[in-house]
Amino acid sequence: MARYTGPVCRQCRREGVKLYLKGERCYTEKCSIDRRNYAPGQHGQRRRKLSEYGLQLREKQKARRIYGVLESQFRKYFREASRRKGIAGENLLQILESRLDNIVYRMGFALSRPEARQLVKHGHFAVNGRKVNIPSYQVRPGDVISVRESSKNKGRFKELAELTRNQGTMEWLEVDSENLTGKVIRLPSRDEIDTPIAEHLIVELYSR
Ligand code: SF4
Repeated sequence: MARYTGPVCRQCRREGVKLYLKGERCYTEKCSIDRRNYAPGQHGQRRRKLSEYGLQLREKQKARRIYGVLESQFRKYFREASRRKGIAGENLLQILESRLDNIVYRMGFALSRPEARQLVKHGHFAVNGRKVNIPSYQVRPGDVISVRESSKNKGRFKELAELTRNQGTMEWLEVDSENLTGKVIRLPSRDEIDTPIAEHLIVELYSR
């Protein structure tokens, strides 16, 4: 699956919020959005009043960028969310939260979702004991995510205690940082998902 490879901080500046795509740097004063909080490009500093469509589009783009999902995959997620029982917008967020790269990030095994994606792709993780290197893999309640034995001695995971920021903050996840494993207890409810997304705008966009 392809992915965005352009300048990362530009995405935050376009959306006007921190998307936390660069790991450690996002928590320092080097963060671009702290220094230049306006949209990128020649006309970035102009004031613009967004149309209703513009607002919906920006919200969808923000969600895609936070979770690192391309448009076609995002549409598929929306179709699946609409098929499921319940509120489509909340279902969509649950599907996004169930991605393996997101779970790895949420468990604190990576500092950002892009880093989690890379670690998964490089084969450092197993789901229920079996190696999985697909970042979009949908994790289900009861699944156990672990750093593979062969990867446990790698520098990145050795520094884990220092690096983890999210660990222990998610009630729907159980993390054992000493053994580098974690379990998905259940899917998160809407109020447990802290990503700044107004999902009803995305539903409105795709329902046009
Ligand atoms: Fe966004 Fe992080 Fe770059 Fe700041 S440092 S603009 S939060 S990706």
